[in-house]
Amino acid sequence: MASAEVKRAVVTGGAGFLGSHLCERLVADGWRVICVDNLVTGAAQNVRALEHNKAFESLQHNVSEPLYLDGPVHAVLHFASPASPIDYADLPIATLKVGTLGTHNMLGLARAKGAIFLLASTSEVYGDPTVHPQPETYWGNVNPIGPRAVYDEAKRAAEAFTMAYHRTHGMKTRIARIFNTFGPRMRLNDGRAVPNFLLQALGNQPMTVYGDGSQTRSLCYVDDLIEGVVRLLNADYSDPINLGTTDEITMLELAKRIRDLCGSSSEIVFLPIPEDDPRQRRPDLMRARTILDWEATTSLDSGLKKTISYFKTRLAGGKSKAS
Ligand code: NAD
Ligand code: UDP
Repeated sequence: MASAEVKRAVVTGGAGFLGSHLCERLVADGWRVICVDNLVTGAAQNVRALEHNKAFESLQHNVSEPLYLDGPVHAVLHFASPASPIDYADLPIATLKVGTLGTHNMLGLARAKGAIFLLASTSEVYGDPTVHPQPETYWGNVNPIGPRAVYDEAKRAAEAFTMAYHRTHGMKTRIARIFNTFGPRMRLNDGRAVPNFLLQALGNQPMTVYGDGSQTRSLCYVDDLIEGVVRLLNADYSDPINLGTTDEITMLELAKRIRDLCGSSSEIVFLPIPEDDPRQRRPDLMRARTILDWEATTSLDSGLKKTISYFKTRLAGGKSKAS
């Protein structure tokens, strides 16, 4: 892009797992990127490789408070939010605030700048789904007062805010309903299934499967997910779009797969299932295929191998290429 045409993007949650990959991708695509993060679950180290890049700047700020920026902004990508069940259980009110007040603030920023707004929503808006696989037209089955409600209901409110700004102000908005995504830069101890199983397998420690392990998730590798997000940003489509894979796997199978790939001798132990843990989850990807011409291309094993290599480097105290 010629300098007069260079576009600026604000990425909230840019120092987190997904946000840091998104910042990197946007800079590589020629954007100037402002990463806004309060580091509550993210880490400055995730964007260290961009630190000296002139196209990148970083701002420590809680987006549940208003944010005023000088100069043009062409896109606001709102990824700030605790995302792991143990994180949002630890930070229930901050999670509710960033999904509601934070989304309102970032919509306000996007509106003031005439920018496109993209919301990182989630498959959790479907709750514990009674329809399988889940199309975007399914309204979901969420317990509004359960322990996951602080995340699920905040994201549902975030979607409602986004559609209201689209309808009321004619803003260009996008809603990505992201299904379970994994890869390098997940926090080692963030408590989600992939990091837990990896840490446990690499340390030959017991692998903690919750319940009987028959609950399913469909796992997507981070690079594929980011490609889907970028395509959605560039698409003229304001209704929600599921992004994920149809690689549905039970948590017991996942634990065994990770154990095999790590060459580990860990035993598998069964712990109580957390309250309201969804029983099954797989996206209907028709919209993503037809509207974005997008499909994930990384196999589960190949994604897991890349993530194992990142975890091994981090555990050895090194700075993996991806760190
Ligand atoms: P993450 O915890 O690694 O990243 C979240 C980032 O947001 C962190 O850097 C954190 O410090 C920052 N943050 C949180 N509250 C903030 C606030 N009030 N102000 C500024 N920054 C704040 O999690 P992630 O997995 O990268 O998730 C990123 C986004 O994608 C979240 O909105 C999450 O809901 C969504 N998402 C992720 C997944 C997934 O599988 N990873 C699935 C569905 C949706
Ligand atoms: N899970 C598990 N053992 C763990 C961590 C998670 O069996 O050590 C299960 C969890 O109960 C859920 C699934 O793995 O059924 C995915 O959990 P995760 O926290 O990764 O994501 P989410 O529940 O948000 O999809």
